[in-house]
Amino acid sequence: MDDKALELRCPSCGAPVAARLRYAKLVVCEQCQTPLFLEDEAVAVAGERSVLAALPSLLRKGERYRYRARGFEPVGRARFDYGDGLWDEWWVVLDDGGGRWLSVDEGEFAVEAPLEIPEPLPSYESLALGAGVRIGEWDLTVTERNEARCLGVEGELPEPVLPGQSYRYAHLSGPRRRLVTLEFDRGARAYSGVWLDPFEVIPETGPA
Ligand SMILES: [Zn+2]
Repeated sequence: MDDKALELRCPSCGAPVAARLRYAKLVVCEQCQTPLFLEDEAVAVAGERSVLAALPSLLRKGERYRYRARGFEPVGRARFDYGDGLWDEWWVVLDDGGGRWLSVDEGEFAVEAPLEIPEPLPSYESLALGAGVRIGEWDLTVTERNEARCLGVEGELPEPVLPGQSYRYAHLSGPRRRLVTLEFDRGARAYSGVWLDPFEVIPETGPA
């Protein structure tokens, strides 16, 4: 785990806020549940209080899980409403210290990491459902194109996702469970990963 205790105070309630992740950009105050931005060791209120604790989820912050041989721990999440349902975007820390986004949507799991590619990303408007698009080394098909609203956040996240804000995104699928996600409202960003077998994401009862 990437530990570096950064002692800050919540501007909303005054409680100490400890960010465990050196690269955390958003931390939810454990005392008053206010989402807080972290920027250059300063802290600012990032939105309204979160109410995620009341909603059920397949993963829990701070517990350990395993996918095949790899252990990981969810440290933060953002929950999104895309109109027809909800999904959770978890930031999980791997045993080697690296991090990934783990999406959970009605029992479907996908793991993704930021994708650096030299060419500019296609525009949201240009992505028609079913269209073929080449991103990086993959020939992909647009399988979803939508807008989702962030309902709330918990824990720590490496990117400032704002509760109440809407984000446009597209999912592109390729061979061998390949998934590329494009996001358009926090600068055009790309993430690449794979769909996981949900039955292989299992809780660990103790340290590996
Ligand atoms: Zn607080």
